[in-house]
Formats: sequence, C-alpha cells, structure tokens
Amino acid sequence: MTKATNLNQQNMKAKTYLFVVILLLSISLVRAQSIAAFIVDDQKSRIQDTWGSGLFEASRDGGKRKHQGLDIIVKPGAKVYAPFDGTIVREAVPYKNDNSYRGIVFRGTGEWAAYEVKIFYAEGLFSGNAKKGQHIGYTQDLTLKYPTITNHIHVEVKSGNDRIDPFNMWQMSF
Ligand SMILES: [Zn+2]
Repeated sequence: MTKATNLNQQNMKAKTYLFVVILLLSISLVRAQSIAAFIVDDQKSRIQDTWGSGLFEASRDGGKRKHQGLDIIVKPGAKVYAPFDGTIVREAVPYKNDNSYRGIVFRGTGEWAAYEVKIFYAEGLFSGNAKKGQHIGYTQDLTLKYPTITNHIHVEVKSGNDRIDPFNMWQMSF
C-alpha cells in the first residue's frame, strides 16, 4: 500500500466518523421531548394559601417532609385530560381512611414511556389507552375535607425511578 492511499483511507475514516456524529446529533435533536398537554383547562399552580405552598418539594409538617407533587387549582367537577399518549393503569386512593377521594395513575407510551403521572382528587372515567388531550376524568371537591383550602388536584410525576418536578413536563410554562 502506498503512503497516498493510506492517507486517503484515513481521510475517509475521519469523514465517516464526522458523518456519524452529525447523524446522531440530528437524531437526538429530532427526538427532544415534546411538551405535555395541560391536564385541566386554564392550568395554574396553587402557590400559597393558609395550608402552605402547592409547589414541588414545599415544606410539609413543619419541615418533616416535602410535598411530593405539584398542586393545580381547579373547580370541582372540571374535566381532566391526558398529558400525553399513554395508558390509565389503575385508580389510586389518596387517603387510606377516606374512600370518597380517588386518583388516576397514568403511564406514558412512545417518547413518554419512562413517565408515570399520578393525579389525586380526580375520578377516572375508564382504564386503558388514552390519547394526549383526551378527557379521562373529573376533578373532586377537596374543600369538603379541608374547607379553607384552595381547591386543587395534586400531580406527582416519576421519570423512571426518580420523582421529578411536574413543572418539567410542561417546561415551566404556567
Ligand atoms: Zn399536593
């Protein structure tokens, strides 16, 4: 093999390497996570009332524990929508000693396959597959239990085994 062909082959290798890097980069850009759909109309977080803050990891029980989810202000009986394509896995029971409150456990499919969303104080309409934005349940009235609280649903999100700030699903957009 001459020195020239050797250099030429090295050049080809470098070009192929560069091509693969660019290809992988563009695939990762195309596959960037889309933003989840709002799960209620006019979605707003519960920031502060006499019961505390509804933000993720807000202090609870005088600092003994942290809030595991994000609270979203709702009127009782409002529609709840699927945040992305997925499956309603099961019903959840927020309070062991109070069966009147229910919840929805929702697992994503496709690009959201790693995500599980729990929505408390909402009655689900069905189990099984749901499309992004599909009507999946109705909010309940939490003021029957805590009369002075800002009525809300409580949303917990897991990505794999990690509990994450639900704001991330909506990219802090409300
Ligand atoms: Zn909460």
